[in-house]
Amino acid sequence: MQSKDLGETTVFLFDNLAQFDNLRHFVSTRRGGISDRCFAALNIGFHVGDDNFRVLQNRRILTDALGLDLLKFTFADQCHSANVAVVNDTGRGRGAMEKESALPHTDGMVSNVPDICLGVQVADCVPVLVYDPVQKVIASLHAGWRGSLRRIVSETIGKMIQQYGSRAENIYAGLGPSAGPCCYEVGGDVYREARMALGSVKKVIKSAKTPGKYIFDQWAANKEQLMDAGVPEDHIELAGICSQCEEQTFFSSRANQGMTGRFMAGIMLKKTRQY
Ligand SMILES: [Zn+2]
Repeated sequence: MQSKDLGETTVFLFDNLAQFDNLRHFVSTRRGGISDRCFAALNIGFHVGDDNFRVLQNRRILTDALGLDLLKFTFADQCHSANVAVVNDTGRGRGAMEKESALPHTDGMVSNVPDICLGVQVADCVPVLVYDPVQKVIASLHAGWRGSLRRIVSETIGKMIQQYGSRAENIYAGLGPSAGPCCYEVGGDVYREARMALGSVKKVIKSAKTPGKYIFDQWAANKEQLMDAGVPEDHIELAGICSQCEEQTFFSSRANQGMTGRFMAGIMLKKTRQY
Protein backbone atom coordinates (compact mmCIF):
# COMPACT_ATOMS: atom_id res chain seq x y z
CA MET A 1 0.00 0.00 0.00
CA GLN A 2 1.29 3.46 -0.82
CA SER A 3 0.20 7.01 -0.08
CA LYS A 4 -0.72 9.54 -2.75
CA ASP A 5 -0.90 13.29 -2.17
CA LEU A 6 -3.91 14.93 -3.77
CA GLY A 7 -3.24 18.57 -2.89
CA GLU A 8 -5.46 19.22 0.11
CA THR A 9 -5.69 15.62 1.20
CA THR A 10 -3.83 12.33 1.06
CA VAL A 11 -5.16 8.90 0.18
CA PHE A 12 -3.66 5.42 0.27
CA LEU A 13 -3.85 2.86 -2.53
CA PHE A 14 -3.44 -0.91 -2.55
CA ASP A 15 -0.72 -2.05 -4.97
CA ASN A 16 -2.70 -5.11 -6.03
CA LEU A 17 -5.83 -3.13 -6.92
CA ALA A 18 -3.94 -0.21 -8.50
CA GLN A 19 -2.82 -2.50 -11.35
CA PHE A 20 -6.32 -2.61 -12.86
CA ASP A 21 -7.00 0.22 -15.32
CA ASN A 22 -10.77 -0.06 -15.19
CA LEU A 23 -10.89 0.27 -11.42
CA ARG A 24 -10.77 3.23 -9.02
CA HIS A 25 -10.15 2.73 -5.33
CA PHE A 26 -8.71 4.59 -2.34
CA VAL A 27 -8.46 4.76 1.43
CA SER A 28 -8.93 8.25 2.88
CA THR A 29 -7.03 9.83 5.78
CA ARG A 30 -7.65 12.57 8.38
CA ARG A 31 -5.84 15.16 6.27
CA GLY A 32 -7.52 18.13 4.57
CA GLY A 33 -11.04 18.43 6.02
CA ILE A 34 -12.82 21.18 7.98
CA SER A 35 -13.93 19.29 11.09
CA ASP A 36 -12.29 20.12 14.40
CA ARG A 37 -11.68 18.61 17.85
CA CYS A 38 -11.87 14.82 17.89
CA PHE A 39 -13.25 14.88 14.33
CA ALA A 40 -10.29 16.78 12.85
CA ALA A 41 -10.05 17.02 10.07
CA LEU A 42 -11.51 14.90 7.24
CA ASN A 43 -14.28 13.09 9.10
CA ILE A 44 -16.57 11.46 6.54
CA GLY A 45 -18.98 9.82 9.06
CA PHE A 46 -22.41 11.45 9.58
CA HIS A 47 -23.22 9.16 12.49
CA VAL A 48 -20.50 10.09 14.99
CA GLY A 49 -21.82 13.37 16.43
CA ASP A 50 -20.00 15.80 14.12
CA ASP A 51 -21.77 18.70 12.39
CA ASN A 52 -23.59 17.38 9.27
CA PHE A 53 -22.61 20.37 7.15
CA ARG A 54 -18.94 19.81 7.89
CA VAL A 55 -19.17 16.12 7.10
CA LEU A 56 -20.79 16.90 3.78
CA GLN A 57 -18.08 19.45 3.03
CA ASN A 58 -15.42 16.90 3.95
CA ARG A 59 -16.95 14.36 1.59
CA ARG A 60 -16.92 16.99 -1.18
CA ILE A 61 -13.27 17.87 -0.45
CA LEU A 62 -12.36 14.19 -0.73
CA THR A 63 -14.38 13.43 -3.86
CA ASP A 64 -13.22 16.64 -5.58
CA ALA A 65 -9.60 15.72 -4.84
CA LEU A 66 -10.23 12.27 -6.31
CA GLY A 67 -12.09 13.68 -9.32
CA LEU A 68 -15.14 11.60 -8.43
CA ASP A 69 -18.80 12.59 -8.05
CA LEU A 70 -20.15 12.24 -4.51
CA LEU A 71 -23.60 11.41 -5.94
CA LYS A 72 -22.12 8.18 -7.29
CA PHE A 73 -21.10 6.98 -3.82
CA THR A 74 -23.13 4.42 -1.90
CA PHE A 75 -22.86 3.96 1.86
CA ALA A 76 -24.35 1.38 4.21
CA ASP A 77 -25.70 1.89 7.70
CA GLN A 78 -23.10 -0.47 9.18
CA CYS A 79 -24.06 -2.50 12.23
CA HIS A 80 -21.36 -5.24 12.59
CA SER A 81 -23.62 -7.71 10.76
CA ALA A 82 -22.86 -10.22 8.00
CA ASN A 83 -25.56 -8.75 5.73
CA VAL A 84 -24.45 -8.17 2.14
CA ALA A 85 -26.42 -6.03 -0.32
CA VAL A 86 -26.34 -6.21 -4.11
CA VAL A 87 -26.07 -2.63 -5.35
CA ASN A 88 -27.40 -1.68 -8.78
CA ASP A 89 -28.38 1.60 -10.46
CA THR A 90 -31.15 2.34 -7.97
CA GLY A 91 -28.66 2.11 -5.10
CA ARG A 92 -26.30 4.73 -6.54
CA GLY A 93 -26.02 7.71 -4.18
CA ARG A 94 -27.69 6.06 -1.18
CA GLY A 95 -26.20 7.53 2.00
CA ALA A 96 -23.95 9.92 0.07
CA MET A 97 -25.57 13.20 1.13
CA GLU A 98 -27.15 12.16 4.43
CA LYS A 99 -27.10 9.15 6.69
CA GLU A 100 -30.85 8.46 6.54
CA SER A 101 -30.73 7.10 2.99
CA ALA A 102 -27.82 4.69 3.59
CA LEU A 103 -28.59 1.00 2.96
CA PRO A 104 -30.03 -0.25 6.27
CA HIS A 105 -28.50 -3.09 8.32
CA THR A 106 -25.74 -3.71 5.81
CA ASP A 107 -22.00 -4.31 6.22
CA GLY A 108 -21.04 -5.63 2.81
CA MET A 109 -21.93 -4.43 -0.70
CA VAL A 110 -21.33 -6.05 -4.08
CA SER A 111 -21.89 -4.61 -7.55
CA ASN A 112 -21.03 -5.08 -11.22
CA VAL A 113 -22.43 -1.69 -12.24
CA PRO A 114 -19.86 0.89 -13.38
CA ASP A 115 -19.87 4.35 -11.85
CA ILE A 116 -20.99 3.33 -8.37
CA CYS A 117 -18.41 3.84 -5.63
CA LEU A 118 -19.02 1.39 -2.79
CA GLY A 119 -17.89 3.04 0.45
CA VAL A 120 -17.03 1.65 3.85
CA GLN A 121 -16.44 3.82 6.95
CA VAL A 122 -14.14 2.77 9.76
CA ALA A 123 -12.07 3.77 12.77
CA ASP A 124 -10.27 0.57 13.91
CA CYS A 125 -12.49 -2.01 12.17
CA VAL A 126 -11.05 -3.48 8.96
CA PRO A 127 -12.16 -1.94 5.66
CA VAL A 128 -11.92 -4.60 2.95
CA LEU A 129 -12.03 -3.89 -0.79
CA VAL A 130 -12.53 -6.78 -3.20
CA TYR A 131 -12.30 -7.11 -6.99
CA ASP A 132 -12.91 -9.87 -9.50
CA PRO A 133 -11.27 -8.72 -12.75
CA VAL A 134 -12.78 -11.59 -14.74
CA GLN A 135 -16.48 -11.02 -14.05
CA LYS A 136 -15.82 -7.32 -13.29
CA VAL A 137 -17.38 -7.36 -9.84
CA ILE A 138 -16.47 -5.13 -6.90
CA ALA A 139 -17.22 -5.37 -3.20
CA SER A 140 -16.55 -3.37 -0.06
CA LEU A 141 -17.10 -4.59 3.46
CA HIS A 142 -16.75 -3.63 7.10
CA ALA A 143 -15.15 -6.26 9.32
CA GLY A 144 -14.41 -5.70 12.97
CA TRP A 145 -14.19 -8.56 15.44
CA ARG A 146 -17.98 -8.93 15.49
CA GLY A 147 -18.25 -8.92 11.71
CA SER A 148 -15.39 -11.40 11.50
CA LEU A 149 -17.09 -13.81 13.89
CA ARG A 150 -20.32 -13.46 11.88
CA ARG A 151 -18.29 -14.20 8.74
CA ILE A 152 -18.91 -11.04 6.73
CA VAL A 153 -15.94 -11.82 4.47
CA SER A 154 -17.23 -15.31 3.62
CA GLU A 155 -20.72 -13.94 3.03
CA THR A 156 -19.44 -11.27 0.66
CA ILE A 157 -17.31 -13.66 -1.41
CA GLY A 158 -20.27 -16.07 -1.43
CA LYS A 159 -22.53 -13.32 -2.76
CA MET A 160 -20.08 -12.53 -5.59
CA ILE A 161 -20.03 -16.20 -6.57
CA GLN A 162 -23.76 -16.71 -6.33
CA GLN A 163 -24.89 -13.42 -7.87
CA TYR A 164 -22.30 -12.88 -10.59
CA GLY A 165 -20.60 -16.22 -11.15
CA SER A 166 -17.27 -15.05 -9.72
CA ARG A 167 -14.62 -17.68 -9.04
CA ALA A 168 -12.69 -17.28 -5.80
CA GLU A 169 -9.34 -17.95 -7.47
CA ASN A 170 -9.75 -14.81 -9.61
CA ILE A 171 -10.56 -12.51 -6.71
CA TYR A 172 -8.21 -9.84 -5.30
CA ALA A 173 -8.63 -8.22 -1.89
CA GLY A 174 -7.10 -5.41 0.14
CA LEU A 175 -7.34 -5.18 3.93
CA GLY A 176 -6.99 -1.53 4.91
CA PRO A 177 -5.63 0.35 7.91
CA SER A 178 -7.28 -0.82 11.14
CA ALA A 179 -6.42 -1.75 14.71
CA GLY A 180 -3.61 -4.27 14.46
CA PRO A 181 -2.38 -7.17 16.57
CA CYS A 182 0.05 -4.73 18.23
CA CYS A 183 -2.88 -2.98 19.95
CA TYR A 184 -6.26 -4.66 19.66
CA GLU A 185 -6.91 -5.86 23.19
CA VAL A 186 -10.19 -7.57 24.02
CA GLY A 187 -11.69 -9.11 27.14
CA GLY A 188 -12.67 -12.65 28.08
CA ASP A 189 -16.15 -12.08 26.67
CA VAL A 190 -14.75 -11.67 23.15
CA TYR A 191 -12.48 -14.68 23.65
CA ARG A 192 -15.49 -16.82 24.61
CA GLU A 193 -17.59 -15.53 21.69
CA ALA A 194 -14.73 -16.27 19.32
CA ARG A 195 -14.44 -19.82 20.70
CA MET A 196 -18.15 -20.34 20.12
CA ALA A 197 -18.09 -18.91 16.60
CA LEU A 198 -14.80 -20.34 15.30
CA GLY A 199 -14.04 -23.40 17.39
CA SER A 200 -10.28 -23.03 17.24
CA VAL A 201 -9.03 -19.51 17.90
CA LYS A 202 -5.33 -20.33 17.69
CA LYS A 203 -4.71 -18.15 14.63
CA VAL A 204 -6.73 -15.11 15.69
CA ILE A 205 -6.43 -14.76 19.47
CA LYS A 206 -3.42 -14.72 21.71
CA SER A 207 -2.82 -13.63 25.30
CA ALA A 208 -2.19 -9.94 25.89
CA LYS A 209 0.39 -8.50 28.26
CA THR A 210 -2.46 -7.30 30.48
CA PRO A 211 -3.62 -10.20 32.70
CA GLY A 212 -7.04 -11.54 31.68
CA LYS A 213 -6.91 -9.73 28.34
CA TYR A 214 -6.40 -11.06 24.84
CA ILE A 215 -5.25 -9.76 21.48
CA PHE A 216 -7.77 -10.29 18.69
CA ASP A 217 -5.93 -10.30 15.36
CA GLN A 218 -8.47 -8.75 12.98
CA TRP A 219 -6.01 -8.97 10.10
CA ALA A 220 -5.43 -12.70 10.50
CA ALA A 221 -9.14 -13.39 11.06
CA ASN A 222 -10.18 -11.72 7.82
CA LYS A 223 -7.28 -13.01 5.76
CA GLU A 224 -8.09 -16.51 6.97
CA GLN A 225 -11.68 -16.15 5.80
CA LEU A 226 -10.59 -14.97 2.37
CA MET A 227 -8.26 -17.96 2.02
CA ASP A 228 -10.90 -20.37 3.33
CA ALA A 229 -13.19 -19.05 0.59
CA GLY A 230 -10.51 -19.88 -1.99
CA VAL A 231 -8.93 -16.47 -2.61
CA PRO A 232 -5.21 -17.05 -3.36
CA GLU A 233 -2.87 -15.75 -0.68
CA ASP A 234 -0.82 -13.78 -3.21
CA HIS A 235 -4.01 -11.94 -4.26
CA ILE A 236 -4.49 -10.60 -0.72
CA GLU A 237 -2.80 -7.36 0.29
CA LEU A 238 -2.61 -6.51 3.96
CA ALA A 239 -1.97 -2.81 4.52
CA GLY A 240 -0.29 -3.67 7.82
CA ILE A 241 -1.03 -0.15 9.08
CA CYS A 242 -2.41 0.00 12.61
CA SER A 243 -4.98 2.79 13.08
CA GLN A 244 -4.28 2.94 16.83
CA CYS A 245 -0.54 3.38 16.30
CA GLU A 246 -1.15 5.76 13.37
CA GLU A 247 -4.00 7.77 14.89
CA GLN A 248 -2.53 11.02 13.53
CA THR A 249 -3.17 9.75 10.00
CA PHE A 250 -6.25 7.55 10.47
CA PHE A 251 -9.15 7.86 12.88
CA SER A 252 -8.96 5.39 15.74
CA SER A 253 -11.94 4.89 18.00
CA ARG A 254 -9.86 3.14 20.64
CA ALA A 255 -7.07 5.71 20.68
CA ASN A 256 -9.72 8.38 21.29
CA GLN A 257 -12.00 6.69 23.84
CA GLY A 258 -14.75 6.13 21.27
CA MET A 259 -15.19 9.80 20.32
CA THR A 260 -13.67 10.32 16.91
CA GLY A 261 -14.40 10.57 13.18
CA ARG A 262 -14.31 8.00 10.41
CA PHE A 263 -12.10 7.54 7.38
CA MET A 264 -13.32 5.56 4.39
CA ALA A 265 -12.31 3.11 1.72
CA GLY A 266 -14.04 3.15 -1.67
CA ILE A 267 -14.02 1.07 -4.84
CA MET A 268 -15.62 1.76 -8.22
CA LEU A 269 -15.67 0.29 -11.71
CA LYS A 270 -14.91 2.92 -14.31
CA LYS A 271 -17.40 3.48 -17.06
CA THR A 272 -15.95 2.23 -20.34
CA ARG A 273 -17.25 2.04 -23.90
CA GLN A 274 -17.81 -1.70 -23.64
CA TYR A 275 -20.62 -1.13 -21.19
ZN1 LIG B 1 -0.94 -0.74 16.91
